[in-house]
Parts: sequence; structure tokens; C-alpha cells
Amino acid sequence: MSPVLPLPAPWIDGLPRDVRGFVVPAEAGWEDGAPVLAKVGQDRKVALGMRRACGVCGFVLPKGRAVYRAFAQVDAAHIRMHEREQSHDDSGPLHLSCVLYSAMVCPYLRERTARMSRTGINPGGRRGTRAAVIGFAGFGLLVPMHAYKSSQPAMPKFAYVQMVEDIPYVDGADLTDRYEAAVRSDRNIIDMSVPRMFWTGEEPPDLKRALRADVKAISRRAENSEFVYTQMIENEGEFGALPL
Ligand SMILES: [Zn+2]
Repeated sequence: MSPVLPLPAPWIDGLPRDVRGFVVPAEAGWEDGAPVLAKVGQDRKVALGMRRACGVCGFVLPKGRAVYRAFAQVDAAHIRMHEREQSHDDSGPLHLSCVLYSAMVCPYLRERTARMSRTGINPGGRRGTRAAVIGFAGFGLLVPMHAYKSSQPAMPKFAYVQMVEDIPYVDGADLTDRYEAAVRSDRNIIDMSVPRMFWTGEEPPDLKRALRADVKAISRRAENSEFVYTQMIENEGEFGALPL
């Protein structure tokens, strides 16, 4: 039985589709000229985050508004208990309508039997019966403390600060009403008059250019110790949070 899928909001509708017809998020990885929706494009997520652009639609996340991610049950529980003030995820921030759309459409997020989990806590673990969309007041880039000195740096992550919203769900379809409300409110804050950040294919030159500028900016801020805090991540070492 295939679930009834939500109508994409205008800022989602214009995104490319993969061969199965799924919307391709801006932060998806690309291999052999095709998007791989199960992978996060490490270059893309940094370039998007540095420009405060949403990892799904590629349009800007306005300052002063909460940003969102979806989490597996075990990760959501961990955040509620231990990381309400400072959390982290491998992937970048999203608009509420964009994360709810993903949670309703993406096979990894919508079904309770699926396996998905953030890196480090429970990789490959089950999504769990009650996944959650969690909102945070702010975000930053979480960079390995010695990235700018190392030839093989760990990948940056995203810091999420101050949990402000918690939307548990069992099945993607539970989110229908919330999604429709989020589309109505996000319509007022998503500026579609400027082009979305989206790069097609592998290593597009404009993405490489953007990334070179970003790496320079990150290194400069890291050397000036502009971190708002640092934290140890199990098996990965010390990271510093640069506000965005
Ligand atoms: Zn978005």
C-alpha cells in the first residue's frame, strides 16, 4: 500500500526529481551524475549552511526563526534528555514545511520500520516507532578543532542550540495537518525572488568556488577562535561551534 503523498509547497515543487520521482534535496549527495538521496553531500551541506540556506529547498532560512531536523526515536530521546541546549547532527537546518514534507515522503523517515540514524549515536539503528521533528532556536557549523591544520580532517557537522519545538510522530501521514499549516506560515518567510542554492551534478564549478571561499572563512574564524563553545564527539574528537 502506498501512502497518499502531500502536495509539494511551491518552494519544494521546483526541485529536480530522481529516477523514482522523489524530490532531490539541495543537500543530497551526487554520484555518477545522479543524486543519491540516502547520502548527504558534504560539500553541499557546508555551502548551504554557510549561506543559511535550507538543506531541502535551498532558499534562505531567515534569522530569528527556528530551524528543524527529523530524528530517529533514540536520537530524539537523547536530545530531549541530554542535549536541549546544545545538540548536533550530520545534516543542515531546514524550514519546518521542508522537514515535514521530507518526513511524509522520504522512505527513511516516514515508516516506523525504517532504519535511519544520525552519525555517532546509533548509526544504522532503527528509526523507531516514534520519530520526531525537532526545532532549534539557532544553529552553527561544528568544525573539527584542527581541521585547518590536518590533511584528512573529519567532516563538519551542524550545531543546534536551544530546542524550542518537539513534534513526535509515528507515521509520516500523522503530520498532514501540521505540514499544511507550515506551508501557510512558511509562505510568508521564504523569499523565492532570489534563486535557490542548488547545484546539479558532481563537483559543479560554482559549488567548488563557493566551497573554497567557505573553507577560507572557516579557517580564519577557527584561527581567531570564534567558537561559541567546543564539544567532544565520541570517536570523532573535539569540535568547535561557529555561529551562522
Ligand atoms: Zn526549505
